[in-house]
Amino acid sequence: MARREKIYDIIIIGMGPAGLSAGIYTARANIKTLIIGKSADSKLYHIPPGKIENYFGLERCTGKKLLETGKKQAKKFAAKLLEKNIVEIKKTKAVKPAKSAAGQNGQKNKIFEVITEDKKKYSTKALIFAVGTLTTTEKISNEKKFLGKGVSYCALCDASFFRDKPIIVIGSDDSTAKEALELCAYTRDIQIYTNGEKIRFTNRLLKKLEEKKIKINGNKITKIAGDKFVEKIILQSGKIISVKGIFITQKSASFTSLTVSLEVKTKNNFIIVNRKQETNIKGVFAAGDCTGNPTQLAKAVGEGAVAGINATAFVQQR
Ligand SMILES: Cc1cc2nc3c(=O)[nH]c(=O)nc-3n(C[C@H](O)[C@H](O)[C@H](O)COP(=O)(O)OP(=O)(O)OC[C@H]3O[C@@H](n4cnc5c(N)ncnc54)[C@H](O)[C@@H]3O)c2cc1C
Repeated sequence: MARREKIYDIIIIGMGPAGLSAGIYTARANIKTLIIGKSADSKLYHIPPGKIENYFGLERCTGKKLLETGKKQAKKFAAKLLEKNIVEIKKTKAVKPAKSAAGQNGQKNKIFEVITEDKKKYSTKALIFAVGTLTTTEKISNEKKFLGKGVSYCALCDASFFRDKPIIVIGSDDSTAKEALELCAYTRDIQIYTNGEKIRFTNRLLKKLEEKKIKINGNKITKIAGDKFVEKIILQSGKIISVKGIFITQKSASFTSLTVSLEVKTKNNFIIVNRKQETNIKGVFAAGDCTGNPTQLAKAVGEGAVAGINATAFVQQR
């Protein structure tokens, strides 16, 4: 049986830059805030020194250090941090609104129940999804081992490290084609590997790939290999291909099951939000990579701040 804890004003799901940024804003506004997630699961955690080149005012800082500082800031304003995964969220019965604080648009106020992996239950008046996107379990042997050492999930972030070098893009849908085309500005030596899957590119993108002379291979890749950095891929046929960079675009969202139970609307595995970071469900906000491209630190922090400010206003108006 799940054990109930006290009611929070806001629960933030995710301990990456979006979640921590939101939490700094809500806690600083004296809103009772709980941030749940694993900072080591944030994409930012694994970025080594010198690799974040495009975040305002930051040089030679590791992702881990940035997260540790963010956690300290949130705690300083009395946010509670829980390094756990959430396995379920439920919308519970509406609570009777106070006379002076009826729900927005005449709706009764809902309470959300969040259940963590250890079966503990936490209740909240508002929720912020800051869950990032999941880079699933590794699809190719050694993918995680070489993450940040030649393997990347983001052309926009890492393309400049592969200027004029041979690279491959792995995937089979439109995002793969778009990523490959984006990389053309940095190198001409690009190939797409569908890893045995059927291509699902639009004709327009196919034509552009042809124009840029980007070859598409259907071969399966069994292994990524190298010493400290990526040096080659080994195909199922045994053939070895020399590469310096591998961009993997096949990802799926981790939050699907959580959003489905709340009926939060998504499109292409991203949560749909308006400019206030509100979802279609009152009291539920979303920020960061989980709302879509560009999946960048600056966007995550900015959207986190906006979600934090608007979730605070929502709680105060209840
Ligand atoms: C190798 C690499 C290099 C990069 N380089 C750059 C760069 O140079 N510049 C740049 O701007 N961006 C870069 N990025 C992208 C940047 O790291 C992300 O855009 C940023 O981390 C997104 O922040 P986020 O908070 O939205 O998601 P994340 O940082 O991914 O955090 C997601 C959080 O959600 C939590 N979570 C997920 N599911 C659950 C659940 N069920 N229950 C509880 N918690 C959950 C996770 O535990 C995690 O704490 C890079 C990314 C990678 C992988």
